[in-house]
Amino acid sequence: MTSLLTQAQDGFTAAFGYAPEGLWSAPGRVNLIGEHTDYNEGFVLPFAIDRRTVAALALRADGLVRVSSSAVSLSTGSLSTGSLSTGSLSTRPSSTRPSSEGTPAREFVLAAASPAAVRGWAAYPLGVAWGLGRVGAELAGLPGFDVHFASDVPVGAGLSSSAAIECALAVALNEAWRLGFDRTRLVEATHLAEHGFVGAPTGILDQSAALLSAEGAALFLDCRDGSSVPVDLGLGPAGLAVLVVDTKVKHEHVSGGYAARRAACERAARALGVRALRDVTVPQLLAARDQLDDEAYHRARHVVTEDQRVLDTVAALRAGDPQRVGELMLASHDSMRDDFEISTRELDLAVEVAMDGGALGARMTGGGFGGSAIALTPVERIPALRLAVGEAFGERGYRAPETFVVRPSQSARRELFEHTPES
Ligand code: ADP
Ligand code: MG
Repeated sequence: MTSLLTQAQDGFTAAFGYAPEGLWSAPGRVNLIGEHTDYNEGFVLPFAIDRRTVAALALRADGLVRVSSSAVSLSTGSLSTGSLSTGSLSTRPSSTRPSSEGTPAREFVLAAASPAAVRGWAAYPLGVAWGLGRVGAELAGLPGFDVHFASDVPVGAGLSSSAAIECALAVALNEAWRLGFDRTRLVEATHLAEHGFVGAPTGILDQSAALLSAEGAALFLDCRDGSSVPVDLGLGPAGLAVLVVDTKVKHEHVSGGYAARRAACERAARALGVRALRDVTVPQLLAARDQLDDEAYHRARHVVTEDQRVLDTVAALRAGDPQRVGELMLASHDSMRDDFEISTRELDLAVEVAMDGGALGARMTGGGFGGSAIALTPVERIPALRLAVGEAFGERGYRAPETFVVRPSQSARRELFEHTPES
């Protein structure tokens, strides 16, 4: 964490030529269970992880916004371009120097930020400013800002680097602009950023995890009313840990499969005459089989059974029954593989190897089509499990996965400077 803070601070100075006013951070997340249930107004159970994105920020005297990222782990197309937006927002070429390892800073007019006019990664920070405007901030009267991001959340790995960058900036601007918005309002603003500005049709899961999680606990979130309670994971006392297997197969939420899954869920809800699939029970769905086309039925069956699995997982955690949690995780994976069809051969292999290696349960996590799997596993099994996963991927000629343990961590927060910045 210390080096990340220093990196953010130094990256800001390198990009903009002066020191930032403050540092704020937000975590990535894993979802223990409850996938694609958020936009169906159901239940999810994520937790914030000990990998974060740090925003180093300073307000400006004018209305410009300049964004820069050291993008250490970023190699995605949307970040490698680094060119200025061709939309109406770019006023003049940035006079700033590119940060040492990252992309050159990009420059926009705050009051003119609008969806579809900003391309590439800059849509995330600009979207946050826009989202804050949508939930009540008077952007026209607020100063612009310079922001630099440093992160150790892998990008496009299903660990929600997107919510981490959004929420780090949201808590930064909430404080710097003295907005006084509560966390629920920040969830709304950052979700709007991703959905309404970037154009990724995701639900509130990721932003809620980054803004509402408590250390050591998962966040049991009702996506219909936004209410949430922490549920103690009790990993340490049980001798358990959560291992992430990043398959290095990148997903892309803005396009394709995610939107198609969402559309099928909405079609199913309409055919069943309910507001959202949240309102359907498993027996009701089975009884209404004939009212749905085959695709809609299978998508709905995943969502409806997954909602129930989240409730069962919460009950199992509260009862101190990790064995049962593991079973539910595995059932969730099977449902995503067979009914929702969002798994990949790499994710399936990671789950299979984890189970063979003594995990209590394992499943893909995040939106799917690549990204990461998680395994709930006894701590002492981890070294052998990591080896086994690497070997199994190697044998099949898959890209070498990255495996690491994640700990349930704090939500977005202000950070203290490591060194007093020179003034
Ligand atoms: P995930 O959230 O699972 O990592 P997404 O596709 O939702 O994957 O979001 C990844 C995108 O978010 C990146 O392509 C980039 O545009 C943006 N992003 C995330 N983290 C950063 C960062 N530290 N700096 C710049 N852009 C970032
Ligand atoms: Mg994301």
